[in-house]
Amino acid sequence: MTTQSLHCLDYDTLRASDSTHLWVHYLAEAVRLGVAADQVIIGICHSNGTLQELASVLAPGEEQCLHATDLFVHIGEPAAAELRQSDDLAQTKSEVQQQVLPCPMLLIREALPGGSEVVLVAARKPGRDAFSAGHTQLAQALARVLCARPTFDELPLLLHVRLLTQIAQVGGSNPDLNFTLRFALRELARYCPGCWASVWLHESREGPSLQLTAYSDPPWKTGRCTALLHTNKASSSSVQLPTTTCLLVRETPLVTALEKRQIVYWERLAEQSWDVLRQWAALGFHAAAAIPLFVGQEKVGVLLLLSKRSVGFTRNELHLAATIAELLGPIIACHRLTGQLSQAYEQLQRAQQQLVNAEKMRALGELASGMAHDFNNALCGTLGFIELALREPQLPAAVEELLRMARTCALDAAATVRRVQDFARWERGLQNAEIVLVNDLVRQVVELTRPRWHNAARAGSRIIDVQLDLQSQAHVMANPSELREVLTNIILNAVDAMPQGGKITITTQDEENYVAVHVRDTGMGMTPEVQQRVFEPFFTTKKERGTGLGLSISYAIIKRHGGDISVESELGRGSTFTIRLPVVRQDPTPVPSNGSALACPKHRASLRILVVDDEPHVVSFLRQSLLHLGHQPQTFQDPEQALDDLRRNCYDLVISDLSMPKVDGLELASACAQIAPQVPVVLLTGWGEQLRQGDSLPAAVRYVLNKPITIQQLEQVLHHFASDHGS
Ligand code: ADP
Repeated sequence: MTTQSLHCLDYDTLRASDSTHLWVHYLAEAVRLGVAADQVIIGICHSNGTLQELASVLAPGEEQCLHATDLFVHIGEPAAAELRQSDDLAQTKSEVQQQVLPCPMLLIREALPGGSEVVLVAARKPGRDAFSAGHTQLAQALARVLCARPTFDELPLLLHVRLLTQIAQVGGSNPDLNFTLRFALRELARYCPGCWASVWLHESREGPSLQLTAYSDPPWKTGRCTALLHTNKASSSSVQLPTTTCLLVRETPLVTALEKRQIVYWERLAEQSWDVLRQWAALGFHAAAAIPLFVGQEKVGVLLLLSKRSVGFTRNELHLAATIAELLGPIIACHRLTGQLSQAYEQLQRAQQQLVNAEKMRALGELASGMAHDFNNALCGTLGFIELALREPQLPAAVEELLRMARTCALDAAATVRRVQDFARWERGLQNAEIVLVNDLVRQVVELTRPRWHNAARAGSRIIDVQLDLQSQAHVMANPSELREVLTNIILNAVDAMPQGGKITITTQDEENYVAVHVRDTGMGMTPEVQQRVFEPFFTTKKERGTGLGLSISYAIIKRHGGDISVESELGRGSTFTIRLPVVRQDPTPVPSNGSALACPKHRASLRILVVDDEPHVVSFLRQSLLHLGHQPQTFQDPEQALDDLRRNCYDLVISDLSMPKVDGLELASACAQIAPQVPVVLLTGWGEQLRQGDSLPAAVRYVLNKPITIQQLEQVLHHFASDHGS
């Protein structure tokens, strides 16, 4: 909202409540039209020398140019007498003489009862004709009409009310506190000629102090006159503002005013003991008033007024300033509260966004988990039967070729399912973890990816510079190959994001209980929408070149490590991926893995094997495979029946699914250990059935195999047992 529009609003309000102000305004307009002026100002010059603007009207399209302070310059004795004594006014006067003289001007002064007078100034732009004697007579006649108005004396009070209303309106409708303060101070300074007004806000962060926040134009500035003349001269540039005297004050008279909760008023500044008061005196000020700003008991700040007039401030001026201060206290407090509220709201929104993201990832994980489970079981059967078919000795060459192609497709599908499985596994704990030095991992990955970014440079197509700033000394508990996969994904994405070349900077830093790895690129960056979705599975902007799985798997891996991964990016400016991992502080001792490394068999033996899986086609595949490999399987879909059978018969090995409805694989293995302690157990895990980090495996479990399994894997494991059995 502009000041101009506020004036209009205000006139409307006044029209309803009191016509006097409007009347002065219309009279000024009548003078402007009657004498063909570009601007007319009407004011009262009080007997104590203060001048108050009552109305200022402009020709359509012209900027406001003359101001109450400027009138002093034109009305001469006695009102301007004090200001004339100051050097600033001398400068102002000469400026005005230089600049205003070519500007036709008309000045009327009419005495009012009680010693004050009405001042009317009409001005035309430079180059226009001077006002004629007839114009002067007309203006004089209208000024006399003005003085004869009976309610004229009420005008100052009305104007004060108008000012307070305007400040309240601006404060209530504008979110920018500085705008409101500047507006209030500028208007206050208009009512107190020769005055510089400022607001100092109370800060209590490091002990009580006051910070200069807003101030009015310096009183010596005649920029509005120069605006009328269409010159760009900045007349205040050579003048030192009192702001430089103390931007942050702890031990000053202002703090005293705030502590005492009283208006403090100083005259003869040059004779005061405070340094800062004498500094203000040196700048040409004679009097100062500090008015504390409060809301309830809370200290808000100080309104400071400095006056160039040796008589200082009138009682009316101080009264107006104090009333404005009473209004500003709550306005400032209200803005502060709004600021705190919007800060809290932003924090809440961020937290909410994080929750939504976490929930989105969890839901995606669940969905992926369900699908991968079914796919895995289907693939387990498909792959197993294809492999069995391939072992048929009489297979025609063409059919064998078709089966091999089908096998390749099934293996590819299994690999994809495993990657999806990797994404949703993030809540299910870390496997094959060991203690690693983060910096070592970073160096390894930089070397591993070197062909991708270095070859591009050698081919001359683009130059990619990789810089390391590895300050961390931290160890983390991690699955090194998984972490390498994450860093590789991020680096290769950065390379993709810099088709014209650029720089990748990798830094590591220790942060309390975490180590942070930042990978920053100078690539194309991302839009906020892309940034929101990068960790979603299958989200890619690379069309058929991308799978959209790299970052979702990275997300899962980092979550599995108890860490966090985030991205900051700006379109056209690059991206920064940050990984935070919890630090381990003990000595690096390798943690034993789950035992998937398989030993080579020494010699074979036919094993009696109890097979338990609730999926019929998995049972069928296992049965046929085991028979094919020369073993003696006994299969069950119901674990309880299987255990009954174990009680009655001898077996060399149990192969069991991990996840089954009635009795799960771990319970079955524990029961096996009691029924037949010497019989080892092999667990098969399907989608979403990984063992949790804290799960303790029953002693009977020797191997954990991930579905889908190939016949070779099965053969390797069985050879191992067969050799144990045979030896
Ligand atoms: P893919 O690389 O197969 O697309 P990712 O999951 O690794 O899958 O990445 C998902 C998407 O995230 C990318 O398609 C790309 O839009 C965006 N992305 C990832 N890293 C960057 C990067 N450094 N700069 C710009 N965009 C990136």
